[in-house]
Amino acid sequence: MKDKLEHLIDKHIMDIIEFRRDLHQYPELGMEEVRTSARVAEELKKLDLEVQTGIGKMGVVGLLKGNTDGRTILLRADMDALPLEEETDLSFKSKNPGLMHACGHDVHTSILLGAAKVLSEVKEHINGNIKFVFQPAEEASPTGGARYMIEDGVLENPKVDAALALHVWNLPLGKVGLKPGPIMAQSDRIFIKVKGSSSHASQPQNGIDAIVASGYIITALQTIVSRNVDPMESAVITIGKINGGTRYNVISDTVSMEGTVRIFDPKVADMMPKRIMEIVKNVSLALGCECEVEYVKGYSLLANDEKLTFEVANSLREAIGEDNVIIAEKPASGGEDFSAFTNIVPSVYFWLGMVSELNKDKCTIHNPNLIVDEGCIPIGIKAMVYSAINFLNK
Ligand code: ZN
Repeated sequence: MKDKLEHLIDKHIMDIIEFRRDLHQYPELGMEEVRTSARVAEELKKLDLEVQTGIGKMGVVGLLKGNTDGRTILLRADMDALPLEEETDLSFKSKNPGLMHACGHDVHTSILLGAAKVLSEVKEHINGNIKFVFQPAEEASPTGGARYMIEDGVLENPKVDAALALHVWNLPLGKVGLKPGPIMAQSDRIFIKVKGSSSHASQPQNGIDAIVASGYIITALQTIVSRNVDPMESAVITIGKINGGTRYNVISDTVSMEGTVRIFDPKVADMMPKRIMEIVKNVSLALGCECEVEYVKGYSLLANDEKLTFEVANSLREAIGEDNVIIAEKPASGGEDFSAFTNIVPSVYFWLGMVSELNKDKCTIHNPNLIVDEGCIPIGIKAMVYSAINFLNK
């Protein structure tokens, strides 16, 4: 079987790389993936799969039914691009002005199509079902495309028992990384408005200074991380934007602030909005100001299922070698809407190394110079194929 899988990956890899370069030339934003989903559906229909389109608006699903009844595993790729002007000099660079596949989702989509091609040729050896899920709008925080696919029933008929996804990552080509438990952060936003009243700067007693109050609020917010979060856990509160005041000699009557919160632990997630509200409201009150606070939840914490992570790590070791599987110690501080799946079914999300001599200065995602070493594509296909087969046939 191992030789057969190797042979099938070799057989399809040139077509998959060509497919990836085509997607890379025509990037589309979240929920606008018209061409991308049509291309995916067209390719899936050539395989012996049940294909559904328009799931979660632009999503595409291919269902492979194996030789016998059994469990169902969902393999997910995201399809959307970013509003960036590509600055690489690749022969297949973006032809859509102002848009670029700068997060590698073209690579994820191609890897999943490759896995679908390989697995459909060995379906007589598979027990159970595989759902190939091509998801729109991963970048569209705080809503994201995953929740719309779930609302449209992607986890039912047949009912999904486990889900798997990967992301190209700043790890050496040939390696994959994963960890049990939290692997990507909960990423929320805060909007604060502090209102006082104006007066001449030389007569502070006649006004209420929103800038002084905001200074205390920003300082006090930092005590949440230092005084309310368990020192063995971590969190981030950053006020990244602040606007207030009109003139050097006028007491400012309004300040608005925006910030982001990153969380890696469900207990911290419960406490965070409450403490932020309390601090902003009570510091404002103490200093005579009024305030408005809005806490907008983004993607939830992405936590890998512990037992399944152990199983998938073993499949990955079998696929790409013992030394190439890195068990990470810490999660990453980015957000990822695959968490919508991990909240419902046992799931594993892993990082696919893509850094080589070819791109070592150009491997930052969400950057207009990103170049992905395509050598990661066959590795990603192999990782998905082995993990799916081992899950279903054990
Ligand atoms: Zn991404």
